[in-house]
Formats: sequence, structure tokens, C-alpha cells
Amino acid sequence: MFGAFCTILQEEDGLGKIIDIVRKHNEYRSSVLNLQASENIMSPMAREALSSDLASRYSLVLDPRDGDAYGGSRYADEILHETERLAAEVYGAKFAEVRPIGGHIAAEMVMLSILKKRENMMSLSEKDGGYTGYQNGYLPQMLGYQNYDIPYNQDRQEIDLSALEKSMKGTNPSLVVLGQSFFLKHYELKPIRELCDAYNSYLAYDGSHVMGLIAGEAFQADAMKYCDVLYGSTHKSFFGPQGGIILTNNEDIFRRIRKNVTWRTMDNYHPSRVAALGVALEEMKKHGREYASMVVKNSRDLGKELLDAGVWVRFSPWFSETHQVALDAQRYRNMGLTPAEISRKLEASGIIIDREGRIGTSEISRMGYSNMGAVARLISRSIAGEDVRSEVSELIKGLSIHYTGA
Ligand SMILES: *Cc1c(COP(=O)(O)O)cnc(C)c1O
Repeated sequence: MFGAFCTILQEEDGLGKIIDIVRKHNEYRSSVLNLQASENIMSPMAREALSSDLASRYSLVLDPRDGDAYGGSRYADEILHETERLAAEVYGAKFAEVRPIGGHIAAEMVMLSILKKRENMMSLSEKDGGYTGYQNGYLPQMLGYQNYDIPYNQDRQEIDLSALEKSMKGTNPSLVVLGQSFFLKHYELKPIRELCDAYNSYLAYDGSHVMGLIAGEAFQADAMKYCDVLYGSTHKSFFGPQGGIILTNNEDIFRRIRKNVTWRTMDNYHPSRVAALGVALEEMKKHGREYASMVVKNSRDLGKELLDAGVWVRFSPWFSETHQVALDAQRYRNMGLTPAEISRKLEASGIIIDREGRIGTSEISRMGYSNMGAVARLISRSIAGEDVRSEVSELIKGLSIHYTGA
């Protein structure tokens, strides 16, 4: 009776509807198995930071050394400094910029800091798994650059070095950006660095998908050694809230990056986000190695188990070096099933992957799970049309967040 009265009141004053939907979302997403490659789960401590009072406090920081131009920011300043320090420590970098509010914004800052208008850059093509933002219609066009594709061998998932050299000779890029959204294999960085030195180009690494694996040194641990800049999202394989981060050992580039933050690519840096990132960095510092090697092992196991369970996955026998396993989308398409349709089928069974056929292991690894045979069989039966929801629910009951504080 009273409940019904409250519902009527809610409807009349227009309050409560959104929070109701938020609660439904929370309940829903805690009842499904998340295998989305672009996502991870945050610890309760990071969530506390993200929804703290800091979430509605403002910032005006031109250079973090000078502090915040807003009053009341003594703790926000302290958090910003400590988070920068932790970021530099975790990645073994001299300089860290933690204010970018996304991986895309971090990319924009890096491009603006290295390239002049009308200069050329190179990045991986979208068809080879490259990030759509680097394709000519997006960031390059917006900022006045010309982008050329880095030659890539899809079957081997490797950059074609001799074709790259030819291409660099022809296009004379000022910046080469590595990194992919569909990302399974490391790069041979040494020869690419040598090419960049020979052709006078900077080398950047967009590690958006793999920042957590690089931090835990389970994948491309040499990124900081060979690249001028490492940057990316803080929420894919990393533990953080949605946001971006930039790392470099080059003081000159760092100074330019600092200038491209406030009033150019963004304004306030969302202090609660940086606080949550700081918590995530502490967690990564303590548990990163164990977590990242677990992720990579789970991916490799999942690839093999999927194949054994009759699911078509690519790149047997190595499958993956990252947090992603790739469905053989072409093969499924040939029999009339698109990756989006597979994704919807799985979703109906409470298993979440993206619509492009990437299966991610970051979140289940953070939840301490390693029985990839069980996951593979549920996926297989679900693709075959079985409703495995109750078994997925059972599996989820045994999961809890790992790699955080006490
Ligand atoms: C996801 C992604 C981005 C964009 O990151 P946001 O944090 O969503 O802004 C940039 N680069 C690559 C390679 C990505 O995969």
C-alpha cells in the first residue's frame, strides 16, 4: 500500500525513475558473465573514490606543479600528484599525465603535441584491427594531418616490416602510432624503432586495450623502452575508471603534452576519476603481475577450449597473447551467422561479448576465475541454440573480485 503510494509520488514529481533504471542495470550486469574485451570491473575502493564528494568538485590545473586555481582543492591536488607519481612508477616512466578523460583524448593530446598541421602520420588500418579514431575521417582530418596505413599481415598478426620501410620512405611520417582495438599479438619494437630513427619519426604506442597487461608486464613489457610515448584508456584491461593516461621519458614531449590539456582538449579533469585511477594504480602496483599473467593464460586456454568445444576461433595454436580471443567471424558469416547475431545469442544466455566477435578475459580473470573449459562449453552450447542461463548463474555465484585491498 505504502509502496504503491510512493510509486505514484515518484511518477508525479518525476524523481526516482533514472535511479531505478540504474539499479536494474546493476542487478542485470551482476547477473551475467562479462566477456567484453573493452571492459573490466572496479574494486569497491575505486568505486568509493569515483562516487565521493570529489565527483562534483571542480579543477583548473594548467600545470599540476602549480596546483589548482580553485579553492578547497588541497586534497584533490594531493591525489593528483600521488596518482601521477604512481603512474610513472607502475610503468617505469619519467613522466605521467593522468588528466585525459579518455583514451581518445589522450591520443588527441599526443598527436597535437608531436605533429604540426599537414604533417603525415601512420597507424594501423581499421580492417587490420586499428582504432577507428586514427582513420582519415576522424582525428587526422579534424586536426589537419594525413594518415597512412601501416602494412600488416593479418594471418600472422604482424606488421610487414619491409613494406613499412617502403611506405615510410614514400610518406615521410612524423609520427608512427602502434596499437590496435582488435589486439592479439605484440610488435617487434626494436626494428620499428630503428626505422623511426632512420626516417626521423616519433614512435607512439596506443595501449588502450592492453594498459593493464603492460603494467603487469605480461604483454609488450618493452613499450616504454622503445616508444617515445605510451598512452591509452584506463578501463579496458586496466583496473581503473573510464579515462586516459599518457607516459613518456621525453621531457620535451611531456612539456608539450602538458600544454595541450586544459582549454585545448578538455577543461576540468574530473578529480573523482583521477582518485579512482590512483586506487587502481595502487592495486596494479601490488597485484598487476599476477593479474596480467592470469589474463593472458586464460585467453590462451579459452582459445584452445573453444576450439575443442567446436567453436571457431582464429589463430590456432597460439590464439592470443592478450586479453582477447577472436571468433572466426568470416567462417561464421559464410554459414550465415554474423558476429552480432552470435553476440545476441550469447546475451540471451547471460554471456556478454561485443558485436564484433572479440571475447575478453580481463574481467573474469579479475574475478579470480580460470576454468576456461567450463566457459567454452557454455559458449558453444549457447551458440548452438541452447539456453544455458541457469548454468551461467551458477558459475557467477562463485565469483568475487580479486586483486584489490584487504
Ligand atoms: C578504445 C580505444 C581508444 C579510445 O579510448 P576511450 O577511452 O574510449 O576514449 C583509443 N585507442 C584504441 C586503440 C582503443 O582501443
